[in-house]
Amino acid sequence: MTGTKTGIAPFLLEPKFDERVWGTVDLNPWYDYVAKGQPIGEVWLTGDECRVETGELAGKTLGEVFAEHSAEMLGTAAPLSAAGMSPLLLKVLFAKEKLSVQVHPDDRMAQKYGEPRGKTECWYALEANGEAKVALGLRPGTTLDDIRRGVQEGTLEEDLAVLPVSKGDMIFVDAGTVHAIWPGAILLETQQNSDRTYRLFDYGRPRELHVEKAVEAIRLETAAGKIEPAELVGRTILIERAYFCVETIEVDKVRSGVSMAGTFERARGAHAGPAYLFAAEGSGMIRPAGGGFEAFELPTRRVAGIPAVSPDWEIQDLGGLKLIRISPRWPATEPEATA
Ligand SMILES: [Zn+2]
Repeated sequence: MTGTKTGIAPFLLEPKFDERVWGTVDLNPWYDYVAKGQPIGEVWLTGDECRVETGELAGKTLGEVFAEHSAEMLGTAAPLSAAGMSPLLLKVLFAKEKLSVQVHPDDRMAQKYGEPRGKTECWYALEANGEAKVALGLRPGTTLDDIRRGVQEGTLEEDLAVLPVSKGDMIFVDAGTVHAIWPGAILLETQQNSDRTYRLFDYGRPRELHVEKAVEAIRLETAAGKIEPAELVGRTILIERAYFCVETIEVDKVRSGVSMAGTFERARGAHAGPAYLFAAEGSGMIRPAGGGFEAFELPTRRVAGIPAVSPDWEIQDLGGLKLIRISPRWPATEPEATA
């Protein structure tokens, strides 16, 4: 049976388990996965290499889906510069040791070095023990010379501002913010789809450093910090600013896709996509609201991709569903493509 609308049906994505020296060997009970070699640091939920598991595009990578179906995936609200690529990269981070002290470039610096975009990111604490902390930004008064000296002498940590992390915290990390994730929390990371990281300090591990580029990328003061949630009817916005919106969506048995479109999307034609849906707890069933595709389960801690142009759909709570919706927010200065 085919629906009356064109477009691409929502689909389930297969995660990719990425080895990192600072990671965790056994991801149970978060994922039924035990590493055979190096520990797993990052579970990539929407990487360009992640494969579609359901529907007519099953077997394709997410990168191929955006390259081949850009208009259906992104809709007309996306700027032309966004075409052909997933705007957002979602990961779950499992740090058992400290990650490197690092910084990401903004769009302007990334483009200066031939990259399509910089990397602003945010972290949502899915879990945190009593001691979880991150390093976020610099202590007041720190200079670039202090940072260079700290790198050389191995005392860079003394220049970093430390932020305790509790379950449910949302932390904004704009490009140019020096930061480091430390153990104790399991984080859902949303970031611009770029993997450009400049390492300043790596706790003696043999990985490459990029001190000069990092110093160029650093901003001594940034907007980084914890974000207060905004509770609205049927949703709680955890963060909404360029380049993303992350919100929890109340489902209450069944909820339609179109009802998930927020103010931003309504102003642009009420598309419920592009978005990603993450089942932080429990599971759901995504099904057509009038035909057009086959229903599929959204299992715990997995992600469904929601194209901007899609047959109507709805999600049913299969038990304990805590649904997080992640959608792109383009910077206001970018000209929008016109339909
Ligand atoms: Zn980072």
